Amino acid sequence: MKVTGKIHEIREEIKGWKKAGLTVGFVPTMGYLHEGHTSLMKEAKKQCDKVVVSIFVNPMQFGVNEDLDSYPRDLEADKVLCEQVGVDLIFHPQVEEMYAEGFCSFVDMDGLTKELCGKSRPIHFRGVCTVVNKLFNIVQPHKAFFGQKDAQQLAVICRMVKDLNMDIEVIGCPIIREEDGLAKSSRNTYLNEEERKAALILSKTIFMGEELVRKGEKSSIKLLSLMREMLASEPMAEIDYVEAVSMDTIEKIQILEGNVLVAIAVKIGRTRLIDNFIATI
Ligand code: AMP
Repeated sequence: MKVTGKIHEIREEIKGWKKAGLTVGFVPTMGYLHEGHTSLMKEAKKQCDKVVVSIFVNPMQFGVNEDLDSYPRDLEADKVLCEQVGVDLIFHPQVEEMYAEGFCSFVDMDGLTKELCGKSRPIHFRGVCTVVNKLFNIVQPHKAFFGQKDAQQLAVICRMVKDLNMDIEVIGCPIIREEDGLAKSSRNTYLNEEERKAALILSKTIFMGEELVRKGEKSSIKLLSLMREMLASEPMAEIDYVEAVSMDTIEKIQILEGNVLVAIAVKIGRTRLIDNFIATI
């Protein structure tokens, strides 16, 4: 497995693979890898001949008061996990390699980025779209793998690829959870013991909501108020949002039908956690 931070080396390596007729799968990450990330890599390995993983904590997608500096990093442990899964190439650039002096071109999106996380993190998706666009241009994969854990991000990337005619297939992969239900996240390491217990209210609420929809609940108002009630039963939980939107447009919906995304964001102590379920009704 090769590890490099240099764009020209990535290009060189991948050019060789493509000349040999091999397909390339790509998994963009911010590192501090866990089984959520490795599930994407394993899927990429199944579907493609070669797998590239990027590890880059992208400053452009963090707001001023967010956790850019404290975001957990452990390149050595990440390398071990990638090696175990059979990743072929890790791209681990420095910020200067990605954003050279004078950088001033951005990819922005209306519509899908205005609700959910876009409301409380207004510059987030501009940073995500810009960096993913750059990574796609550098790696030029056949397929790119994203987790449903970040469902709005998945919808945004699908839309960007469609709108900008990128010749890349985006593959969404299911949420990987801890045994007790908590969605795996690099940010779970911020939680102390008490907060870790309290954080279970997210997955409990998601499972309860999913069950109600499965049993036929059609009113988003009813569903969301029951979910809010459950979240409020945990004194440490501070709700950012609880919403039902169309998975395709990320617009709020009243009646639960079609491709529905029910998503929540909740602060436990100082840690903001997200979770969701998707239902096709
Ligand atoms: P991150 O490193 O948090 O930017 O995540 C990189 C990719 O891994 C994104 O596509 C995430 O949606 C995905 N991911 C993170 N956590 C999980 C999880 N628990 N299950 C599935 N995918 C995940």
